Amino acid sequence: MTNITSATRVGFIGLGITGQSMAGHLLAAGHPLSVYNRSRDKAAALLGKGAVWCDTPGDVAARSDVVITMVGYPSDVEQVWLGPDGVLARCSRDALLIDMTTSSPELARRIASQAAAHACQALDAPVSGGDVGAREAKLSIMVGGSKEAFEAALPILKLLGSNIVHQGEAGAGQHTKMCNQIVIASTIMGVCEGLAYGKAAGLDLPTVLKSIGAGAAGGVQLNVLGAKIINGDFAPGFFIEHFLKDLGIALAEAQRMKLDLPALALARKLYTTLVERGLGRLGTQALAQYYGVRP
Ligand code: NAP
Repeated sequence: MTNITSATRVGFIGLGITGQSMAGHLLAAGHPLSVYNRSRDKAAALLGKGAVWCDTPGDVAARSDVVITMVGYPSDVEQVWLGPDGVLARCSRDALLIDMTTSSPELARRIASQAAAHACQALDAPVSGGDVGAREAKLSIMVGGSKEAFEAALPILKLLGSNIVHQGEAGAGQHTKMCNQIVIASTIMGVCEGLAYGKAAGLDLPTVLKSIGAGAAGGVQLNVLGAKIINGDFAPGFFIEHFLKDLGIALAEAQRMKLDLPALALARKLYTTLVERGLGRLGTQALAQYYGVRP
């Protein structure tokens, strides 16, 4: 198992809203960094600071002791990890492989068992805290996989997050992230309904937020996203289309466990409507447009 120091070679795949900042923290900590992203232009800032571009995920793996992936969908994870020039095809023995994408627990288990067949260790380590948490290295990181791999990965994960918890065996990180998304799904609906009600009642919404944001309803969804809604700021910190992906994974897992989660099903219905309206690349706070809080 890799014993991590600042000389440990790290590979990072997926340089979007969150991955971009996360990879930057690893580079700033002195790790030699190899990167790959579907669109090369997103790597420009990191390459300017000394990261090395690789043409495939396999090339990244061949040059790295630790590989981190932060791509979009389970299909991307599958391609990047299990594809013909993917991470598992080229990783070295004893490599530590960490998928931080929000993906399916079943895929995380499959990857872990294939990694073991390559004499590597894989962790599923999805995050919460959004674009701001990634930028400030204050993510909450929920980890599935062996305790030994978790402990080996801690020096790297501590560069990315401020709350890092081992949740259990492979897939447990992704299951925990689904708990997170289920809570958020109902919360953001509540935020939008509260603001829709305030608007209909003729209240001044910033003044409403001053009261309810400091009371029992306060939290990130209300205080941060509610404020964005009031300001008409629908730019993505977290894409609606990614949230819809998560709601689908959570519902499929709930169905498999014979669990009825009606609020989660409603959230998926509402967000599906927004994607059908072409709003999938807005932030999740754009649910307010369904309720007419803002145009
Ligand atoms: P994003 O901005 O879309 O970043 C994903 C990056 O991965 C993009 O740059 C994309 O390339 C790249 N990518 C996708 N598929 C790829 C592939 N097959 N090969 C190589 N690169 C690939 O999304 P994000 O907001 O950073 O989110 C990343 C993941 O974290 C998602 O699963 C999301 O659900 C989860 N997440 C996001 C947040 C948040 O607040 N944003 C919070 C927690 C978890 P392109 O540049 O070509 O699109």
